[in-house]
Amino acid sequence: MKEEEIRPKKIFDEYLKLAKEDIKQHFSNKRGFVNINCPACNKNETSFEFEKDGFSYVQCNDCGTLYVNPRPSEEVIRNFYGHSKSTKYWAEHFYKETEEQRREKIFKPRALMIQDFVGKGKKINTFADIGAGYGTFLDEVRKLGLAKNILAIEPSSDLAVVLKNKGFEVIQMLIEKCGSVLENKVNLATSFELLEHVFSPQKFFESVWEILAENGYLIFTTLNINGFDLQVLWDKSNSISPPHHLNFFNLGSAKILLKRCGFKTIKTFTPGKLDVDIVKNTCSEQNIEVGRFVKLLINSDEATRANFQSFLSENNLSSHMCFVVQKSTR
Ligand SMILES: [Zn+2]
Repeated sequence: MKEEEIRPKKIFDEYLKLAKEDIKQHFSNKRGFVNINCPACNKNETSFEFEKDGFSYVQCNDCGTLYVNPRPSEEVIRNFYGHSKSTKYWAEHFYKETEEQRREKIFKPRALMIQDFVGKGKKINTFADIGAGYGTFLDEVRKLGLAKNILAIEPSSDLAVVLKNKGFEVIQMLIEKCGSVLENKVNLATSFELLEHVFSPQKFFESVWEILAENGYLIFTTLNINGFDLQVLWDKSNSISPPHHLNFFNLGSAKILLKRCGFKTIKTFTPGKLDVDIVKNTCSEQNIEVGRFVKLLINSDEATRANFQSFLSENNLSSHMCFVVQKSTR
């Protein structure tokens, strides 16, 4: 899999351009910014790492989580997502224009991973995808017949329309508000690439805990700050993109937070396939100086790069990580 296949440069560059305009429009002054403790371990000793587009990124001295601090308040973030040009572009262009490539490369494999988890021939009673977006993943879950009831949790009204047109039952609200509607109802929930966006990851997990049935499961993915492309590119990484990406956990720090929120971690892995490709592309586009070894690596032949990528995935060193966790007591 290549970055260009799932994140075409032309579309992604336009998105990054709009995100910069959004920042000027929504965050030109820091009114409404608040200081927070570490989103993973709740301690507050940090080292300042860098500033990007006016947002400060700090790293927790204790657990290594990288996060925006101070950050826009929950209300400012919600207002931003409701009115931002970059988010609208993502929903209207990115999802639509990349749907078929992403279906093949991302969503089918993802649905097969869920099938493996559920067990062939078995069915989950109630399944919910949090941040269901364009519904391509749910399409694949439905095709495989993995659940009796499928719920799409999606706060955006534009995307809710798309999901309804695809025939899904939509809970059009933020997960943080779903407790009263879905309490103890969901047997398996999924959330892909959402955690890095939320104001309070703790509140996010606590809200998922509320909607899960006893011993219910959550499978989620997010960025791993200890992964290769983030470690090499650091502040130059396009994934470090405020105000969209606020939280960068690592395997250990996410586990700390999950435990605090009443989850038992069953399995973690870093199935990423793009680290080396992302470093290669970003270096050539932005003329970034990287160390001698990385330079050697990104200029090596395709088989060497692919082998190195497998090594990263197998050793928890990819920037894309996945968790399988179970509701426990809190
Ligand atoms: Zn911490």
